[in-house]
Amino acid sequence: MNIEPRMTVHVKVDHEWDRIHIRSAPGNTNLFKMRCPNGLDSMTGLFGTVIRDRALHTLFYGTDYHSHLGTKYGGIAYIDENGDTIKKIHDISNSQFKSKFHDEIEGIKTSIAIGAISDKDPQPLTFVSKFGPFAICMNGLIVNKEDIKKVLIDEGTNFAEVYHGEINQADLVANLMNKKDTIEDGIRSMWDMIEGSATILIMTPDGIFAARDRKGISPLVLGVKGKEWVVASESSSLTNLGFEIFKYIEPGEIVKITDDGPNIITGTNGERKICAFLWIYTGFPCANYEGINTEIVRENSGRYLAKRDNVEADLAAGVPDSGTAHAIGYAMEAGIPFRRVLMKYTPGYGRSYTPLTQEERDRVAQMKLIPNEATIKGNRIILCEDSIVRGTQLKNFTVNKLREAGAKEVHVRPACPPLMFPCRYMLSTRNKTELVARRAIMDLEGRDLEDNEIDEYLDPGSENYKKMVDWIARDLGLDTLQYQRLEDMVDAIGLPKDDLCLYCWTGKEI
Ligand code: SF4
Repeated sequence: MNIEPRMTVHVKVDHEWDRIHIRSAPGNTNLFKMRCPNGLDSMTGLFGTVIRDRALHTLFYGTDYHSHLGTKYGGIAYIDENGDTIKKIHDISNSQFKSKFHDEIEGIKTSIAIGAISDKDPQPLTFVSKFGPFAICMNGLIVNKEDIKKVLIDEGTNFAEVYHGEINQADLVANLMNKKDTIEDGIRSMWDMIEGSATILIMTPDGIFAARDRKGISPLVLGVKGKEWVVASESSSLTNLGFEIFKYIEPGEIVKITDDGPNIITGTNGERKICAFLWIYTGFPCANYEGINTEIVRENSGRYLAKRDNVEADLAAGVPDSGTAHAIGYAMEAGIPFRRVLMKYTPGYGRSYTPLTQEERDRVAQMKLIPNEATIKGNRIILCEDSIVRGTQLKNFTVNKLREAGAKEVHVRPACPPLMFPCRYMLSTRNKTELVARRAIMDLEGRDLEDNEIDEYLDPGSENYKKMVDWIARDLGLDTLQYQRLEDMVDAIGLPKDDLCLYCWTGKEI
């Protein structure tokens, strides 16, 4: 690969988080490794606005409406009245996005701006390049990041943004784009080179390029209000700002939004593999993806769980927040009451405390859940949960709390099949051996099976599947455990199976 070295950046920068600059040639870099305080790679929420002179006000609220997608970094970039590209990034682990940015945007007139909230890569990043000045933020996961980094460094590329020992994915994307002569060619070429996914927003002095990942793993929606335009990861960020959905940006589509409105400069490639987990777990309940509402999918999912169930119960309850709508659907279908047995206590917690270890973080997360003995005692409870990853929180906190508060029976109903394969397209929050289903298989088989050896465990009709589920139920201390069937989860979403990424459950690469 031949790549032109990136030019020196002349931008105003305001950071308050730790960062390490690498400006020297390969070999001279002084990498200072730090442990990621979150220990997580998660989604990123993207928001962009093109509104004459008043872009920042909308950007402020619109970006903040993505706070459920990240806990670590909040950032914005805009062109100021002098034509300079400005970026501001704050650590939001101890305070809300709103409180960090409120005073900083007061009185600033700008027409074009982008923002991001993320758990890992601080964004947006700003560059001066052969395309002119631009800012970029992205949502995705570049699986072959290390391979690409090595090639680019061998070619003489410098990476300026390194956090916790890793290069920033947005930096990598920008450097790959730089291999071509135009931004749109650069985006297409970047997509050709990466494994994984990348949905990006690029701000230039005259507009925003909104490019949805080629397979459409993560969403982007375009909103309109008169002559004002926004682009967002979550459609729920549009409603209170008075914007209507103009269109869901299609997989592989590149749209340029200027003062004159949006212009599709690259059409869709017809592929679609949107992440099914958006509806099951990660998405905000009011958000729509491909026109399909998250809350309704969760209700449908609960209905499917109830249809296959024959356990007699007194009530259906959800593990807040995302389990709630699954439980409402279950209750509607089964004709039993939906009741709240676990309440989330948010006042005073917020982001005021970020413990250092994962164990402590899990505990704090669960300290927020308070059992209500009045609705628990003596009851046979159907407990809907979005998914079971490791099972430790469910076992140690949730189920134990219900038992201690006098639950007569606890029947857990996860809204998706057993998680078998760590995500390789958008989230990398776990590894294989952490997954409770894999631990069950390892215990039953006496060894860690290869991915191509676990087919029987994926089949809900097989004896091995039943043994695995029984093992998990015993391990978690449940009366019964019944997972959602894959086909029911797909039907609950309502898209054709081929339009969804289901890798977490099937291991079939997309
Ligand atoms: S592997 Fe799972 S979490 Fe990752 S994109 Fe696919 S469905 Fe979503």
